[in-house]
Amino acid sequence: MADSDLLIIGAGISGLSMAHYAAAAGWSVQILEQEQRVGGCLHSHRFTGPLDGFWLELSAHSAFNSYSNLLAILKSLHALERLQPRAKVGFRLFADGAVRRIPSQLSFSELALALFRLLGLIKTGRSVAEYYGHIVGPRNYAAVFEPAFSAVICQAADEFPADALFNPRPRCKEVPRGFTLPGGLQTLADIVAGSPGIRVERGRTVTRLQNQGEQFIVRTDRGDYTTRALCLATPVAVTSQLLRPEFPKLAEYLMEVKTATVETVGVAIPKSRLTLPLVAGLIGRNEPFLSVVSRDTVPDPSYRGFTFHFRPGELDEAGKRDCIARVLKLSSDLSISMEMIEKINQLPALRVGHGERTQAIDRLLPGSRLALTGNYFTGIAIEDCVARSRQEFARLRQELAGADPPVC
Ligand SMILES: Cc1cc2nc3c(=O)[nH]c(=O)nc-3n(C[C@H](O)[C@H](O)[C@H](O)COP(=O)(O)OP(=O)(O)OC[C@H]3O[C@@H](n4cnc5c(N)ncnc54)[C@H](O)[C@@H]3O)c2cc1C
Repeated sequence: MADSDLLIIGAGISGLSMAHYAAAAGWSVQILEQEQRVGGCLHSHRFTGPLDGFWLELSAHSAFNSYSNLLAILKSLHALERLQPRAKVGFRLFADGAVRRIPSQLSFSELALALFRLLGLIKTGRSVAEYYGHIVGPRNYAAVFEPAFSAVICQAADEFPADALFNPRPRCKEVPRGFTLPGGLQTLADIVAGSPGIRVERGRTVTRLQNQGEQFIVRTDRGDYTTRALCLATPVAVTSQLLRPEFPKLAEYLMEVKTATVETVGVAIPKSRLTLPLVAGLIGRNEPFLSVVSRDTVPDPSYRGFTFHFRPGELDEAGKRDCIARVLKLSSDLSISMEMIEKINQLPALRVGHGERTQAIDRLLPGSRLALTGNYFTGIAIEDCVARSRQEFARLRQELAGADPPVC
């Protein structure tokens, strides 16, 4: 008999939400996670020592009341009361060496025809540059919209599919429009991982999969596991690599999805040493960073936090330190002594035509006892991941309904 009904590889929000749905259906669920921390891109760095209690986001920073699948999970875990509204502070542009208000960078005469240009224009099959560039006009696109969209998706936006950028969703009015939790979005991952019926084994890197008819054998650096059904909730490149021996066609489709890398650096600065107005973040235009995300949305009495998302390969560590000092106008003593928390973030670099690829992938899955979830299906937002997990679990459940009953 297999060790679990469903084994999930990866404890990011995709894997955790998949685990939630399966555990709620009474399946025995096991997650294997290579890190000691769960959450993947839900990664709130929590300081110790003199800054004890202060945290900042190294990856995802915002969740919204339009994330209905995520909110339903939190509701079922009685965690809605832990949501904290984010303070209403705005984004600004950082361009030509200074912080600028966004409207000051817009050409309103060019924007005047935007609604007219929107008429009849179809998103599907168009890139962000083609679709939004046409609507807002080339000057506005280059001055404001391209940098803003690149900041949102943490990668160059031009070639991203327009229909994967924003997915309109109804809002749940009882919940704050933008929210986080005490300790940051990491807490969300901690809550789901700690909920009943979910076993997470940390520090387990999956290296190989074998499909043995009735069950999968999952090999890790610290032993083997067996499972009736398997879910891969790893980044697309890892998923492709793991699937190659047993599911080469799936691996081939996934290999076509490129990955964008972001070099992230977080810093915490005493409030008294900063003159920068309160901001949700800065959008970089012609800068080595795409964005700077601020902790001002969750104010702290003593410190402010900033997370710089640098374009890959442009600056070394000293260059990043200088850039942070220049943008935040730090004195040289502070710039030399500040602690830099570094992380490499990776996201799928989706391209026009991606929808056809995911449809082809979905046609190969039925009957395989294999589920794929992640941020490389309909979009990269947290809610896109949860929605995909929900859909994949429903498919898997139906597929296994005719098979032997679950272990427990
Ligand atoms: C900088 C940044 C900012 C973002 N901002 C937002 C935002 O504000 N709002 C929003 O909605 N979304 C945001 N996103 C997107 C969103 O956070 C991610 O798309 C989403 O969290 C991805 O979740 P995931 O579970 O699919 O993948 P991941 O979070 O990448 O999780 C994959 C997990 O698999 C594990 N793993 C990998 N290989 C193995 C292996 N071989 N064996 C075992 N485990 C393995 C990894 O350690 C990781 O924990 C942001 C993303 C980034 C990078």
